[in-house]
Amino acid sequence: MAGEPQDDCLFCKIVAGQIPATIVRETETTVAFQDINPQAPTHVLVIPRVHYRDVATLAAAEPAVAADLLRETGEVATQEKLESHRVVFNTGSGAGQTVWHAHAHVLGGRGLQWPPG
Ligand code: 5GP
Ligand code: ZN
Repeated sequence: MAGEPQDDCLFCKIVAGQIPATIVRETETTVAFQDINPQAPTHVLVIPRVHYRDVATLAAAEPAVAADLLRETGEVATQEKLESHRVVFNTGSGAGQTVWHAHAHVLGGRGLQWPPG
């Protein structure tokens, strides 16, 4: 069924507590944790508890959860005391997506170039 946990999904395992992560915030519908390979002084991933391959698929299937995810990016930025931050959704392998469970990167704590690479 759409949104069900996938046995072979790393982030479903983090949601289930089967793989450890440094969790910074949790809600009924989302989990936020430190990225294992940070690209900035603050690099937090925000994921829905439900499994969808990318954020657009999530938004089409469960828009309320997609809204929760977006709201949580702001809550993370506030909690981490970021003056500015960037939210990134890599979508597709050509854009750098490597984990096929929707996730927002929240990056901050240093100057961020625009346009990104
Ligand atoms: P993507 O490349 O799909 O946009 O982002 C996946 C992110 O997940 C990467 O930034 C990568 O460092 C992070 N990541 C991969 N494996 C793990 C893990 O086991 N634990 C945590 N906390 N982050 C991970
Ligand atoms: Zn998953």
